[in-house]
Amino acid sequence: MSIEQALTERAGAKCELCAATDNLQSVAVPPIDQVRVDNHILVCQTCKSQIEGAELDTNHWRCLNDSMWSQVPAVQVMAWRMLKRLSSETWAQDLLDMLYLDEETSTWAQKGDDSDREPTLDSNGAVLSAGDTVVLIKDLDVKGGGFTAKRGTAVRGISLTDNPKHVEGRVNGVRIVLVAEYLKKA
Ligand SMILES: [Zn+2]
Repeated sequence: MSIEQALTERAGAKCELCAATDNLQSVAVPPIDQVRVDNHILVCQTCKSQIEGAELDTNHWRCLNDSMWSQVPAVQVMAWRMLKRLSSETWAQDLLDMLYLDEETSTWAQKGDDSDREPTLDSNGAVLSAGDTVVLIKDLDVKGGGFTAKRGTAVRGISLTDNPKHVEGRVNGVRIVLVAEYLKKA
């Protein structure tokens, strides 16, 4: 079962943050050492783009009032992080005060606070972010995949990893680690 299928099942085919049912996609809840269902959440396009840095539509995020009570730690972590970003709003700060995370989840939530994270840079020194599309600038042997990803191959929707020099992306349907300095932001 793919990550998306497993997430869709867990989420009941709804955005795990706002319960929308259209354009659902998986999004990583960093830091990611290994791609697993339990470090991803299923979200709609509206949530995804704002998670990834688009300007926050404050009212949209009132959905966290419900979703922060999810039993899924990855959803709790994302809810906590979004409430942090919204914490200039009184209602968001109030929710944040109410949101109890167990120790492990709380550590996870704060680790992903990437304000002091070293940026991941592509071959031109451009900063890569989760969700970016990149192009390979050299041929890449995919060990275990049994194929070579050709120079010029586009990789959509990359995720960042613990290591600022590496990103993850899907090539020929296989999720692999890519060295950032061999990539170019598209
Ligand atoms: Zn949503």
